[in-house]
Amino acid sequence: MTLNQDGGFVLWEGKISNYVSFCFGLISLLAVMVFLFPEYLTTPELRQHYPVDVLRQVLMGTLILSFLFGMLSFVLTRNNRPARWGILFSTIAILLGGSEVEIKEYQDKAFQIGLDWLILDLLILAVIFIPIERIFPRRKEQLTLRSEWKTDLTYFAISHLFIQLMAVTVQKPATLLFGWMGLLEIQAWVVELPLIIQVVAALVCTDLVQYAVHRTFHASSLLWRFHEVHHSIKDLDWLSGSRIHIVDALLTRSMAFIPLYVFGFSTQAFGVYIVFMAFQTILIHSNTNINFGVLKYLLVTPQYHHWHHSNEPETYGKNFAVHFPLIDKVFGTYYLPEGEWPSKYGVGTDFPTSFLKQLTHPFKRHRK
Ligand SMILES: [Zn+2]
Ligand SMILES: [Zn+2]
Repeated sequence: MTLNQDGGFVLWEGKISNYVSFCFGLISLLAVMVFLFPEYLTTPELRQHYPVDVLRQVLMGTLILSFLFGMLSFVLTRNNRPARWGILFSTIAILLGGSEVEIKEYQDKAFQIGLDWLILDLLILAVIFIPIERIFPRRKEQLTLRSEWKTDLTYFAISHLFIQLMAVTVQKPATLLFGWMGLLEIQAWVVELPLIIQVVAALVCTDLVQYAVHRTFHASSLLWRFHEVHHSIKDLDWLSGSRIHIVDALLTRSMAFIPLYVFGFSTQAFGVYIVFMAFQTILIHSNTNINFGVLKYLLVTPQYHHWHHSNEPETYGKNFAVHFPLIDKVFGTYYLPEGEWPSKYGVGTDFPTSFLKQLTHPFKRHRK
């Protein structure tokens, strides 16, 4: 097995098949655990909607792929430890029941870990974004498994596993601040509006709040310590957008939740809003130069948000909005030179790259 100069992978050297076998093996084992212990490992809101038979077939697919790519690694390289782990995981998954694993009767628990959500969302996003980034790359030379991908995967995993805790926590400030107000009248009016109006209103309101909070995170040296973690990404891609310090995530999301709480949008509108918001957040970080035409003036696109991550001093403090560029236009922070992209991202070379070091970094003294 050899690496190219960038420390990347070369096709047919066995490293990619190693990782694929490992990942699918691990996913299969975790998925079997989810089937075995749904009361602890599944999110109740999702659980009711699962097409269990389809998921069993997907599990069968990940098991087969893990074995196939494991075998390929054995053929291609002697350095096949990840593949051996992958096959071990898949074997344990099969011994525990594999895709035929039985779901026992269970009682709901007060707190669940969103392992189901982590596996599903990771699979769905990987299937959507890895091909997009390979076919329409912004930086062709950037690899899917670029440096620091494990750090960003850790952020992704934690935000998904603790989604229930996160959701409860971000709702607290809104209920404390506005719970005493009689909002029923306005909410009764909002809930009757057409779905599309409600979704757009939810996006506009949250983006306005998010804009203010985001600018404050850049303006305050104390808050910047936390937000700097998000700006430390050197290689922007779909996974990197997950890199947000827990303090940044909790403060930003709990503030953005206030208008959602005050206006009390319908459950359906809230659902569409969440999916759209999550998808756009991932898209705007992704390593793609897809041409969005006139849409790029209406909605935040990768090119637009990449400029927010630019590490060229003359472009600092631009493009704070995450949904609508118009908000930046109104407040004088809009920046989108035609067809141009930043030459570098990040906050310099001395920023820690591991999850744990980034977690404690904002609390350290003697900083610039
Ligand atoms: Zn920022
Ligand atoms: Zn970003």
